[in-house]
Amino acid sequence: MNSQIISSKKLASSILDLYIRISFGGSFRVNIQLPTVWNSGWVEVICGSMFSGKTEELIRRIKRAQIAKQKVQIFKPLIDTRYSPEHVTSHSAMRIDAKPIGNIEEIMTFLEDNTRIVAIDEAQFFSPTIVEITQRLANRGLRVIIAGLDLDYRGIPFGPMPLLMATSEFVTKMSAICTVCGNTASRTQRLKLESLENNNSQVLVGADEFYEARCRKCYEPPAEVMV
Ligand SMILES: [Zn+2]
Repeated sequence: MNSQIISSKKLASSILDLYIRISFGGSFRVNIQLPTVWNSGWVEVICGSMFSGKTEELIRRIKRAQIAKQKVQIFKPLIDTRYSPEHVTSHSAMRIDAKPIGNIEEIMTFLEDNTRIVAIDEAQFFSPTIVEITQRLANRGLRVIIAGLDLDYRGIPFGPMPLLMATSEFVTKMSAICTVCGNTASRTQRLKLESLENNNSQVLVGADEFYEARCRKCYEPPAEVMV
C-alpha cells in the first residue's frame, strides 16, 4: 500500500517535471518524448543563437536513432565549410558525416529508399523551398530534424527558419550563456572588429571568433537596424 502511494507520488512528480520541462523548454534541458509510431512522419526544429548547442542536440538525436539501427541521411548547405566539408561539426568538435548540397531540392535526388530520418544542419542558409521539401518528406512518413539559427546578427529572423518553425510539429529553442553578464542568451552579437567593417553578409561562415552569445539586455544591434 505504502509503495503504491509512493509510486503514484513519483508519477505525479514526473508528470509535473515533464510539464515544467515542456513549458520552459528554453531554460531547462528539453526532454520531450517524441512520438514513436511510424505510420506518420513529422518535422522537428532545433533553433537558437550561435553557441547554444544546436548542432550538438542534432547530433545527439541522430546518434540515438542510429543506435536503434534507423537509417539517417544528413545534409548541410555547401556554404558551411566550417571545419570539414563532409561532416556536421559542432563547436565542441562532435562530428558526424553529412552530405553538402548547394540546393535544397537535391535532397530528393540523394534520398535513399530505406531512410527513415532526414537531418538538415544550418538550415537558415537554404531557400524557402526547404519548407515544401520538409513537408513532403514528413508526409511520406519520414522524421525530419532541422537545426538552424533563428535570428541573424541583426536580430532579424533568419531565412526560412520562421516558416520551418511554424510548419513543424516540434520546436526546441536552445539558449546560450551571455558572454557579458552570464544570463540566458538568445542573440548572436557580431563583434565590432575593423576587419568586419563594410561587411553586411548575414553570417561570416567559419568565423566564430567574430561572434558572441548575448542576452537581450547586453545585445547591441548594428547601427542599420537601430530604431
Ligand atoms: Zn547579458
